[in-house]
Amino acid sequence: ARKFFVGGNWKCNGTTEEVKKIVATLNDAQVPPQEVVEVVVSPPFVFLPLVKSTLRPDFHVAAQNCWVKKGGAFTGEVSAEMLVNLGIPWVILGHSERRQLMGESNEFVGDKTAYALSKGLKVIACVGETLEQREAGSTMDVVAAQTKAIAERISNWADVVIAYEPVWAIGTGKVATPAQAQEVHCELRKWLHANTSPEVAATTRIIYGGSVNGGNCKELAAQPDVDGFLVGGASLKPEFIDIIKSAV
Ligand code: 13P
Repeated sequence: ARKFFVGGNWKCNGTTEEVKKIVATLNDAQVPPQEVVEVVVSPPFVFLPLVKSTLRPDFHVAAQNCWVKKGGAFTGEVSAEMLVNLGIPWVILGHSERRQLMGESNEFVGDKTAYALSKGLKVIACVGETLEQREAGSTMDVVAAQTKAIAERISNWADVVIAYEPVWAIGTGKVATPAQAQEVHCELRKWLHANTSPEVAATTRIIYGGSVNGGNCKELAAQPDVDGFLVGGASLKPEFIDIIKSAV
């Protein structure tokens, strides 16, 4: 069985005081053991050392991005090597906000994923269609193309979690219905079966992101191909604990 995975993407939010508060709330929370649910929170780069050094040891930390290759003369970037040096185990790559606002292409995200994995990072790789693409009926084409650019460049899927995050559901309060999420997750798993291996398809976690909250997580979590969540806004609030608990 695939272990349930709950990620909290804090995006570009927080002050030192707010971060300390969130960590304290997480540290006090009663949640299922890490054998049952894997919890990973992703603060902005500048707060990674603080969160890493104060967060309970059964929860883990992710960066929200990293550079596509070895560091050097790339002003403003943070390399995979630096994350490894800090003991950060995870990185989110290909988030739709980076694809859309920073122009990251499928190929670029694939290159980043391959490089991060080669340095020993584990990757939360994000895919998802826009509203226009969904309405045009091209959801699966878009998601398959995004996944293909990664699949062509990597072989160690054991260190990858795929986050299906429909762009129209992110930060909009318009969550995908459980049936909509299940449909894409199931299709993605079929794509992995046909294009990677049956084992990769059976074992890779496919998590859902987009307006997940304490109220809608249970029904989504009950879908057979929904293996967890990548949570934005609600990951800054105490209800993140309820989302972690939807693992059981
Ligand atoms: P929201 O939960 O705020 O919709 O954000 C989802 C997301 O983008 C997580 O990466």
